[in-house]
Amino acid sequence: MLSFTGNPLDRASAERSDPKWIAAQQARADALFLPIWQAKPLLVGDRAGLLSAAMMGLTPDMQTIFLGLRDGQPLFAVALPDSEAAPLAGLGEFREMRAAALVLPDAECAIAGQAKSLIDWHHRHRFCANCGAQTLAADSGYRRDCPGCGAQHFPRTDPVVIMLPFLGEECLVGRGARFPEGMYSAFAGFMEPGETLEEAVKRELQEEVSLAVSSVRYHASQPWPFPSSLMLGCYAEAVSRDFQIDAQEIEQARWMTKAEVRARLAGEIQDGIKLPGTVAIARMLLSNWVQTR
Ligand SMILES: [Zn+2]
Repeated sequence: MLSFTGNPLDRASAERSDPKWIAAQQARADALFLPIWQAKPLLVGDRAGLLSAAMMGLTPDMQTIFLGLRDGQPLFAVALPDSEAAPLAGLGEFREMRAAALVLPDAECAIAGQAKSLIDWHHRHRFCANCGAQTLAADSGYRRDCPGCGAQHFPRTDPVVIMLPFLGEECLVGRGARFPEGMYSAFAGFMEPGETLEEAVKRELQEEVSLAVSSVRYHASQPWPFPSSLMLGCYAEAVSRDFQIDAQEIEQARWMTKAEVRARLAGEIQDGIKLPGTVAIARMLLSNWVQTR
């Protein structure tokens, strides 16, 4: 399954805004807590480090965020203070989210992504965007309230279009200046206000490679918790093979045939050119495309 998708939790959105209900869930003996430290989830071996309150030494000053119910069992994320040394020594290891995504079971990867995204949002939204006063977490972590002006702030999700342009048996892939060496991938960019998905795809391809496309088709989406994107995977049918890279955004681009993409995905060509790894939706766009007739 695509990383960060398939979250199995019942988010209990009707109940979670009731502080009494949340307190009762948190006090349950079977409640589990996923500690996050410096944006890294705790892993125990290759599993998510879901700990009991006693095991993780939960104290009232720690911020907890309700993640949801897994078969009735409550799960919370806990933001640990930014200490220099990793806390909870001996219980597990805090691992970068991208590295964790490579080893975690699908459901736990989605849960850890949800936890990281929410905790990042709290860290970055401590002050009211309207009046500048310090805000307070509310609604079990799904809102921040401003005591200064009464504004309510909600966790953000930033839509990003990611698209694979193709023409017949070839697709166009590019590499950004900050990509790992040799890496080519689908094109991507943040959506802007007042745009449809299709318009954003067309604009980004125009800006990055001056490529004209006739049609855009949505394929699949992926939560991408770095820190709060939603990747919207699309295919775009090109009008011609002509393109011109915009050096500000793209270092290189090249057409690849289906046979070439297939061989590269299978690791059969070792010439330093790489395609995206299994965690990324770009790889799904490529692997799905080579399977179509
Ligand atoms: Zn305010």
